[in-house]
Amino acid sequence: MKIIRQVQVVFAGQPISEGAGVQLSRVIGTPQFNMLDPFLLFDAFSSDQPQDYIAGFPPHPHRGFETVTYMLAGKMRHQDSAGHEGTIEAGGVQWMTAGKGIIHSEMPEQQDGLLAGFQLWVNLPKSHKMIEPAYQEKNGNEIAVESRDGLKIRVIAGQTQNGTTGIINNTFVEPIYWDIQQQPDTLFVESITAGHNGFVYVYEGEIKLSEGANQRVSKGQVAVLTDGDSIEIRALNGAKYLLIAGRPLDEPIARGGPFVMNTREEINQAIADYQMGRFGTQN
Ligand code: FE
Repeated sequence: MKIIRQVQVVFAGQPISEGAGVQLSRVIGTPQFNMLDPFLLFDAFSSDQPQDYIAGFPPHPHRGFETVTYMLAGKMRHQDSAGHEGTIEAGGVQWMTAGKGIIHSEMPEQQDGLLAGFQLWVNLPKSHKMIEPAYQEKNGNEIAVESRDGLKIRVIAGQTQNGTTGIINNTFVEPIYWDIQQQPDTLFVESITAGHNGFVYVYEGEIKLSEGANQRVSKGQVAVLTDGDSIEIRALNGAKYLLIAGRPLDEPIARGGPFVMNTREEINQAIADYQMGRFGTQN
């Protein structure tokens, strides 16, 4: 039987200053919406004012999860303690598995103009929190786009019901990460794995889920989805939004800023390892 996912609850992102003073909208990871297992944090940023982003994110550590940066406009340069460096350009994605730990910096590679994109934190299972750091880094032109009547789906991760497959591979939580552009008054109908937690973040226009009341989601809002095996999204205006879902890990979580482990002792160990220089040095 087909069970169509509905809007469970809608939140607006909260303005926040992160890094060395970057202005963000925190969508997941706020006091009111702490997490949606396995998603620990979700930030959106969009500004053409250099003072909002120019300070960037100077060297900082991560352990125990993955950070996913997806750029819509502008360029972000990153460098890390494992000797990895690169630039994520508009339309590109970096899926970084921090694993047992890296120190990295994320800095805008521009002095002015629009910088826009998203950062998502995806938890790692207990069994894989201490794996070696790894990267999947893809340019915009490597990401598959599925076109349907009135809409386009950029498939970053996961697979659509028509078989379009994302270039990012993640077996830990089998995520979907889709960037969807939809014409006014068109309907997007798609399957989603039942039991996976999912959300929609609208970054342009307005959408409505299913045909029920109180199902509208507007620009800057996130809708947490009820469970189900399919979704029906109507674009009320021309709309652009992310549809993200993944398998919940259902494991204990201990958070300590840039470290996310299963116990408080493991957080203390991460802090000690970082202070002892066991994460290496960012060059
Ligand atoms: Fe970071």
